[in-house]
Amino acid sequence: MFKKILIANRGEIALRIQRACRELGVKSVVVYSEADRDAKYVKLADEAVCIGPAASAQSYLSMPAIIATAEVTDAEAIHPGYGFLSENADFAERVERSGFTFIGPTPDNIRTMGDKVSAKQAMRAAGVPCVPGSEGALPDDPKEIIRIARAVGYPVIIKAAGGGGGRGMRVVHTEAALVNAVQMTKAEAGAAFGNPEVYMEKFLENPRHVEIQVLADGHKNAVWLGERDCSMQRRHQKIIEEAPAPGIPRRTIEKIGDRCATACKKMGYRGAGTFEFLFENGEFYFIEMNTRVQVEHPVTEMVTGVDIVAMQIRIAAGEKLPFTQRNIEMRGHAIECRINAEDPVKFVPSPGRITMWHPPGGPGVRVDSHAYTNYFVPPNYDSMIGKIIVHGDTREQALARMRIALSETVVEGIQTNIPLHRELMADAKFIEGGTSIHYLEGWMNQHKR
Ligand code: ADP
Repeated sequence: MFKKILIANRGEIALRIQRACRELGVKSVVVYSEADRDAKYVKLADEAVCIGPAASAQSYLSMPAIIATAEVTDAEAIHPGYGFLSENADFAERVERSGFTFIGPTPDNIRTMGDKVSAKQAMRAAGVPCVPGSEGALPDDPKEIIRIARAVGYPVIIKAAGGGGGRGMRVVHTEAALVNAVQMTKAEAGAAFGNPEVYMEKFLENPRHVEIQVLADGHKNAVWLGERDCSMQRRHQKIIEEAPAPGIPRRTIEKIGDRCATACKKMGYRGAGTFEFLFENGEFYFIEMNTRVQVEHPVTEMVTGVDIVAMQIRIAAGEKLPFTQRNIEMRGHAIECRINAEDPVKFVPSPGRITMWHPPGGPGVRVDSHAYTNYFVPPNYDSMIGKIIVHGDTREQALARMRIALSETVVEGIQTNIPLHRELMADAKFIEGGTSIHYLEGWMNQHKR
């Protein structure tokens, strides 16, 4: 096991990784920007190094600053968390070339999966079903684009090969709008992701977002840790996740889970990862793979009892998986609500000082958050300030526990989306389970949001 790990991230995931390090008896080095100077996990770290100003480009995205910090603090490995440099193959490569271990997949794994066009090709080759669409990237010739769209069938969605975080996508309903939409998405993708390549998929009208968590050790062992339903989304961004996915037969899930584990073995995948699917009419369609720990990993930890972050670290240290698929059991039901510092009606970010922070507790309740009373939420980063996760024997019990947890939670000084979560936990359709990815936006229209 490593003696010291550098955590190249911030916020709740920095704290989550720090907790895993402590449990494993590993010292942690935290890097922070000037905006995060007062964060509690910075104070709790064995060592903390300020690497730059608030702007991410000069701090959390600065490869030289992070690698130099690993050098001066004698860290052996770097955990990238999610977002920032976590899916940057060049970073993983530079980390390894500088003599450190990157806690994640190989640069090759990241590169293949980071480009959604090559990811889909790899998945097709591994026998994982994909959303119907263009064979690869779209050509320049407008006639060809029109021909492909006719073959796929409207509506279609144009997606950036290098896209992420719900950005770089455009739905097209008619041929008249197609060529222009492709050009606009290309221009945006070039500017936002440095890669203008786009591809086309059939736009599924009523799918659910269901994903499979995997762990692979790079020694040809891979398991899948059940599924998560992340269909409650606003602007393609998840806000509620749960495990298991309500109402899908276990056999259907097991079939796709096994395919994912097999694909990991074929790819020589190493570390934690998530295969994201759209699920419609009983079929799974692969959309992308995330080669990192995800925000919603705790719901899987709650139902399987596996510590995903600790496993990432153990795998990076060269350990083999301590279990096989047969040992993985899903118990009960877990739900996560992402708590964002934002107006619950208009969704404008609401950074600032938290004057009162009272997190919930009780049986089956877990709170992953770096916030506290008097914590200042900086305006520079993502608005998520934490996550409330509950576990129950049944979905019903988990829902009841989430309602209680949300009713206990007090956050003052800033606005949060907790009122929205309270309403959703009382919504008849959500309670029934199995709503599609478009449900929340429809609900918001209805409720005049
Ligand atoms: P990102 O990497 O930006 O998260 P994804 O490919 O994972 O992009 O897609 C994010 C979300 O966009 C999905 O969860 C889904 O809500 C929507 N989406 C993506 N592809 C399609 C599609 N073919 N049909 C319908 N919705 C889609």
